[in-house]
Amino acid sequence: MTIDASSITTWQRGRRRWALDRLYQEIRWNPRALFDNCLQKGITALGGGAMVSQVSTDAVTRFLDLSRDPGLNILSGNPYKIAMDYCAMLRTILEKLSRSKLPLCHPVPTVKIGDHEWRCMAQIETATNTLHRWTTVDYWSDDSAAQEIHSWFVWGDMAATGLPMVLHVIEIGRIVKGRRHSHWARIFRHPTVATFRFQHDDGKPLTAEGWKPAWFSDHNRNNATHWVDLMDVQGVNLIHKAPLKEIPERSRDEFVRGVVEEATGMKDIEADPLLISPCRDACHRFGKCKWLPVCFSLESVDIASLGAYRRK
Ligand code: SF4
Repeated sequence: MTIDASSITTWQRGRRRWALDRLYQEIRWNPRALFDNCLQKGITALGGGAMVSQVSTDAVTRFLDLSRDPGLNILSGNPYKIAMDYCAMLRTILEKLSRSKLPLCHPVPTVKIGDHEWRCMAQIETATNTLHRWTTVDYWSDDSAAQEIHSWFVWGDMAATGLPMVLHVIEIGRIVKGRRHSHWARIFRHPTVATFRFQHDDGKPLTAEGWKPAWFSDHNRNNATHWVDLMDVQGVNLIHKAPLKEIPERSRDEFVRGVVEEATGMKDIEADPLLISPCRDACHRFGKCKWLPVCFSLESVDIASLGAYRRK
């Protein structure tokens, strides 16, 4: 079997969930997943030396094209505004990243683990033999750092390859009432003077003093260069870098045992996902599971006929 951090994470959140994911995919994109996908392509292109103006245009065009067809899976809020805030973040984040030297990275060849293969989701900078993983989080804290570093995405890829990793984390805030609350997409205007700020000089939020929010995507005049200039001047830093040393040999042995055990379980799984016991504890624990309409329908369900999923 070929396993990666995504599939083994889903497997450990529930056998039924993994089995459904293996056979079907949602027709429409989850907006956050599409954003991450477009951003990742943009970062790789910047690392390869492409011009930020072109990279940014390509990222936004891809996001908008796929938002139209097959569409975005947005259940509440204004889909247009949500999509435009994501596009604003693509522009501002790529502009910010273009101001530092990014590593030239490539995909990592699959790694043999017993009778199975591990597909790395991180990329490799061959010049330094170091993995690089870019990830977006709502907010970065000690807890979210520990969660990320212990995940299969970081620990798994490092254990499989035996290489060090640089983890790059971009904080993108949350959507609140249909708008993105993040300095990448939103600034504040002073209630009386035409002054714009992201935060106080000490980093505290401006919301308590009548400052009015204004979003990048609401005004054609906004451009990413000026926006990021202002972020830099006001000391806004939403990108973090964590260099991680190689995993010791003993932990790598544990990784191999764990992967082989899980892969064996995956091979023996029931062919029909709906015959596998539901993983009820996981239905809402890691965000709302996308398979809820299938698992909790009172009638028997023909998944393909629901119109939301297609057979892979
Ligand atoms: S809805 Fe619940 S039972 Fe169904 S796949 Fe998702 S987590 Fe498992």
